[in-house]
Amino acid sequence: MTYRILILGGTTEARQLAGRLAGRAELAVTLSLAGRTVNPAEQPVPVRSGGFGGAEGLASHLKEMQVDLLVDATHPYAARISANAVEATGSTGLPILALRRPPWLPVAGDRWTVIDNAGEAVVALGKSPRKVLLALGRQEIGPFEAAPQHSYLIRSVDPVEPPLAVPSATYLLARGPFAETDERELLQADGIDAIVAKNSGGAATYGKIAAARALGIEVFLLRRPELPAVETAETVAEAVAAIDHRLTGASERGV
Ligand code: NAP
Repeated sequence: MTYRILILGGTTEARQLAGRLAGRAELAVTLSLAGRTVNPAEQPVPVRSGGFGGAEGLASHLKEMQVDLLVDATHPYAARISANAVEATGSTGLPILALRRPPWLPVAGDRWTVIDNAGEAVVALGKSPRKVLLALGRQEIGPFEAAPQHSYLIRSVDPVEPPLAVPSATYLLARGPFAETDERELLQADGIDAIVAKNSGGAATYGKIAAARALGIEVFLLRRPELPAVETAETVAEAVAAIDHRLTGASERGV
């Protein structure tokens, strides 16, 4: 029996989970990427790339590839694909498991403001010129053109094209993980006094949050989108355990 797993990825955890499952004889694991990153990270299992064409397209793909389990290991802010995953598994009757990092929680010394969208961050930053680190996806930074008085340091995986139409913007291409000491150096070297970021959770991008706390820098955190309630593992180890549990059930049923 081969148990087919499709992992919806685009995150470090998806890659790590694929690595933990790769090479197991009873599994056939494929990882799916949206296909927007120019140089995606190497993956330990076969990869398919590009959108499915909504929930219906995903449902057809699941049937065609005879997938037994869908794992939604996408980023906590990738709400559309997570909703599609629930709809597609609902219509095909397939099981779904989400792998989702819990959000960071504030601790003493954090100076956080939770905002609903980038436009709110623009207002919250105020009118006086500031030095702002934008640690957001390149699709989300457009609203900051409404606040050209600030100097921006914009960090992204892929180049921001076209660049932001503001007088002062510096671009930094980088992919995490980012260590706290390096983040502290970056924030100090550039005189950053505000950070706008997502509450991604996990260790890979927490360095800037810890560094901001140490330096007393304000952080504007985008609120997480509501995601559908499904069985959820918070760590790669938990996801492996949940998959093993399902496998045991499947082999007992002779599937
Ligand atoms: P999204 O808004 O939820 O998805 C938009 C569309 O992109 C989906 O409807 C789907 O197209 C396609 N898609 C998304 N993830 C896919 C996947 N893993 N495999 C195949 N198609 C996928 O998501 P997003 O915010 O654009 O994120 C895209 C990818 O980047 C995700 O895989 C996510 O894990 C990763 N990522 C996102 C963030 C973030 O902050 N949003 C950060 C880091 C990494 P169809 O409807 O045509 O199937």
